[in-house]
Amino acid sequence: MLNYSVAELRMKRQILLLLLWIIGMSVFAQDKFDELQYSSEECVFNLNAPSSVRSVKVRIYQSADAVKPVHVLKMKRNGLDRWRASLKGDWAGYFYTFDIGRGECPGTFAKAVGVNGKRAAIVRMEDTDPEGWDKDVRPRLENASDMVVYEMHHRDFSIHPSSKSRYPGKFLALTEPHNIWYLKTLGVNAVQILPSYDYFTVDESQPEKPQYNWGYDPLNYNVPEGSYSTDARTPEVRIREFKQMVQALHDAGIRVILDVVYNHCMNIDGSNFQLTYPDYYYRKTAPGQGASGDIGTTGGDYANASGCGNETASERPLMRRFMLESVRYWVEEYHIDGFRFDLMGIHDIETMNLIRKELDKIDPSITIYGEGWAAGSPAIDYNLCAMKAHTYRMPGIGAFADEMRDALRGPFSDDTQSAYLAGKAGHEESVKFGIVGGIAHNGVDMSKVNYSKAAWAAQPSQHVSYVSCHDDMSLVDRLRTSIPGISDKEVVRLSQLAQTFVLTSQGVPFLWAGEEAFRDKKGVHNSYNQPDSINQIDWSRLMEHPELFMYYRGLIDIRKQHKAFRMGDAGLVRQNLRFLEAPSCVIAFTLNGAAVGDTWKEIVCVMNSNKTPQQVNVPEGLYTVVCHDGMVCADGLGKMHGGKVTVAPQSALIIYKTE
Ligand code: CA
Repeated sequence: MLNYSVAELRMKRQILLLLLWIIGMSVFAQDKFDELQYSSEECVFNLNAPSSVRSVKVRIYQSADAVKPVHVLKMKRNGLDRWRASLKGDWAGYFYTFDIGRGECPGTFAKAVGVNGKRAAIVRMEDTDPEGWDKDVRPRLENASDMVVYEMHHRDFSIHPSSKSRYPGKFLALTEPHNIWYLKTLGVNAVQILPSYDYFTVDESQPEKPQYNWGYDPLNYNVPEGSYSTDARTPEVRIREFKQMVQALHDAGIRVILDVVYNHCMNIDGSNFQLTYPDYYYRKTAPGQGASGDIGTTGGDYANASGCGNETASERPLMRRFMLESVRYWVEEYHIDGFRFDLMGIHDIETMNLIRKELDKIDPSITIYGEGWAAGSPAIDYNLCAMKAHTYRMPGIGAFADEMRDALRGPFSDDTQSAYLAGKAGHEESVKFGIVGGIAHNGVDMSKVNYSKAAWAAQPSQHVSYVSCHDDMSLVDRLRTSIPGISDKEVVRLSQLAQTFVLTSQGVPFLWAGEEAFRDKKGVHNSYNQPDSINQIDWSRLMEHPELFMYYRGLIDIRKQHKAFRMGDAGLVRQNLRFLEAPSCVIAFTLNGAAVGDTWKEIVCVMNSNKTPQQVNVPEGLYTVVCHDGMVCADGLGKMHGGKVTVAPQSALIIYKTE
């Protein structure tokens, strides 16, 4: 006999759901991804999985490949979509998996894993700290534009015999004194490491077999990649070695920026997200719409703005929470100093702003920038997406600038097309937009800028200035492909000219590792899975064209010494950077160094991509020359008078007024 009416039952159900929601919220206030809470007395396992699942199990194994578990724990519901289990005793050294009935996985937030990341590992994290880790200090940074970022892949950097590394292709290569010395000598003060979390494609169980991947195929987001450690089978080793790397770089005053790829996973079906909370973390397109980026599919499909088969849903509470906790974890556990978000345009603006806020709580100098684009149309409103055009709505977050990059060397989509560097007119305004750092400036005619008709950066520190990165061709290859018949000497000159724009831009200068050593990739555009023979940096080539290294080193030095090149504030740049009248393919500007306390009170930069000398009128006075015809020296290369000055072909002239 029923004592309740249907309405009463409904009300009780609502109250119950509200109660569950409140319990859920109280958990939410803490870490939501505390999948393992370890102590020497007990392990507590938590999992975010639907309450509607019939059973959730934790299996404890003695090793990463043991066939049978030593324990099978049944998790209990613990609030809305939360499961919990505990096990008394000290289980350090053991491994575990979660299973909601779709197959075992290490969970979404494993902090240690066995070989190839299939099982999570129970480790005492304090055992992974290298000596002196508690004294490790983040190198100081006032403004993101004070960085000179060096983007590198572990294997590229140290696998070639010429690198003479004891740990070729490993995290530890970046602890070796000669490698650290090299970076310091070049003068970079931040390295951006290509994906260094645990990714899928390289088989960690075969360390002797040459294998290569960039690593944009995430598996376990919160564990270092095993193939970059000296022992992928012992879970503590990769963690300790990663920390050693950070420590050595910090000791040298070099910050570490992590390339993070939250926008997609290796795949959907086998992913830790899908195996714990099916269809929650990924976006789907509206029924009838088809997968974005795909043609001919029929609706309700997984969205694919990453071009890798899936896209995550940062706007959903759990995914958002995951990203927030993940970046915080890398900062707190590994002392990471900044993040480069892959395909940031897939994420929503609100999540990115929340990440900024979360990191500000720890240290506002932690940098965030990303690719303000996607490989397809994300399955949320474009206006919500963290696209480059919306950068001004994300204070403290930067974006890679393709305007200056492509105006210099030609478009991403066609390697055979050249631009400004080839002496082609019409690209000057796009280059100037890069010089000011992507902000609104009355010296830049936005109607003539290639991709953007409005300035998108509120501050120059939001504009990542570059001409090449791991993607597509190296600058050497690009110049050879787009300018048929070009000589090596000319490649050197144009490389120098290109990086002069990068290193005198008010944005954040970004260099691709090896560019200073005349690096090429044998013309390969997308080298993500190519062998070492394509990707490795042959350091012996440094001596083939030492003028390249010397030039970059000199310009980096000048930038670091002189604030006029990195004023760090849009208002200051608008007031103190002036463009001068100049012929076609010549770009000239003055910097009022005095306004920002620079000892070089008045600086003139003139860049010329013509094959002939060009003349420009600069303010009268006596100047010291610091960059001229492919040579740089902060102490001066000689003196010259203002008025009508001549800039050599395919080169830059930088002078400052001498009192
Ligand atoms: Ca891996």
